[in-house]
Amino acid sequence: MAAGQSNQAVGAGSARSTRPLLIRGADLLTMDGTAGELPATDVLVQDGKIAAIGRRLSAAGAEVVEASGMILMPGMHDGHRHLWHAIDTGARVKTDPRNYAGYQKWKMAMMVAMTVEDHHLVALIGGLQAIDSGVTSIIDFPHAHYSLDRAEAAARGLQASGIGGWCAFQLGVSADWAVGDTISLRRADAGRLGRTTEAHWAIAQHLRDAVFSDRDAPLQLALSPISNPVQPMPDVRAAYDRARAMGVGMVDIHVHKPATPAPEGYLGHRGSGIRDFHDAGLLGPDFHISHGTQLDADELALMRDAGAMITSTAMGEIPYIAEGRGAPVFARARAAGVAAGIGVDVVLSLTQDYFEHIRTAYWSLFEEAESRKIAATYTSTDMLDFATALGARSLRLGDVTGSIALGKRADLVLLRTDRIGFAAGGSLADRVVNFAARQDVDSVWLGGVARKRHGRMLGVDWADMKARLAAAQARARRDAATVRFD
Ligand SMILES: [Zn+2]
Repeated sequence: MAAGQSNQAVGAGSARSTRPLLIRGADLLTMDGTAGELPATDVLVQDGKIAAIGRRLSAAGAEVVEASGMILMPGMHDGHRHLWHAIDTGARVKTDPRNYAGYQKWKMAMMVAMTVEDHHLVALIGGLQAIDSGVTSIIDFPHAHYSLDRAEAAARGLQASGIGGWCAFQLGVSADWAVGDTISLRRADAGRLGRTTEAHWAIAQHLRDAVFSDRDAPLQLALSPISNPVQPMPDVRAAYDRARAMGVGMVDIHVHKPATPAPEGYLGHRGSGIRDFHDAGLLGPDFHISHGTQLDADELALMRDAGAMITSTAMGEIPYIAEGRGAPVFARARAAGVAAGIGVDVVLSLTQDYFEHIRTAYWSLFEEAESRKIAATYTSTDMLDFATALGARSLRLGDVTGSIALGKRADLVLLRTDRIGFAAGGSLADRVVNFAARQDVDSVWLGGVARKRHGRMLGVDWADMKARLAAAQARARRDAATVRFD
């Protein structure tokens, strides 16, 4: 795709509620540049979209939510999450680095221990957990879906959660081992970072046609065209061209600078590979990457010019700093004009309280000289931007969600402020960025449809889900333990 194309959204539609919704008297944290923060203001939602913002609004037949003293903000965005990890959350945590070091082995054993039903369950739970925390759009990057039935079950689970954003499919994971096998680490790694085969393309096509055929739905298919980081550029180009020819609206990969440059003609020959993508004509407004902690100013400029997007996962990336692998790049990216957002990444290990991720992202800025300078110019609104308005742009949804503005989809989060510890002073952004927590999320609407009210998810029996997850987890762990690597 050519550089400079508009970052136009795909999948602008949503499940529609026919009855108007009037949220009355909330303090509005609009994250809309011109509107800013509006005390005690009403918001009217019609046909899933924000229809009016003002004082003393009324609408015949509207459901009225009295929200005086509460904070209404846009639904939040997460551009990089591995929801399938929910099968075993806590089994490896970053606060136990020696145990976490076994992450790839865990992954390779767990991916064959999980059943098709497990994939549906964890994707559904993962989507619901995100909504519960105030996150209304995500990019789910599932790197364990090595068969059509697994990929489809997970896609349908995520879709059933109702969350918006992108369900990515990684073209390249394979697993020719099974529960009870002893395999060489080399063979397992070759599967985890596998080459793309016709079988992968067939899965992608099936997902597009059978699961994501409605191009107006809030959740759309994204493709991850390469999973093996060391590939000849002609292969990379062929994979991106083919993915785009399928008509998907997003191509998304992990980007890490190779420890030693790849050979000439291979992706990662220069820097983190962005220049290789650029020279091959592969950057574009559908081009999204995660991490990229070592991107330099030239690489960021190439991304900006192409309208490309990036997500930093600060909590998970902070350990990279000690390893000399760079620091979270989101502030440098934003300063360079790139649509940059944040994300949770490793659901296996990290909290889903998204406010903690926003705070951690801020503090991570002090670990790198240029970011430290940028942080000195910030207000709390700049920080919240990564999770809301700019966060939406980093998911190619900037025209659809991310702020409370007329015509935007009504993806809204209503926060209680009455908990002791939730600050009463400061701007709304100051209070949310520094003091809000998941338990303050009173209500969440997606496209104007209530999914959480009075602190409880609607139509979700958490106790039942937890019991089903616990049973799946126990069985999958038992089976994963029988896979041995030598
Ligand atoms: Zn990741």
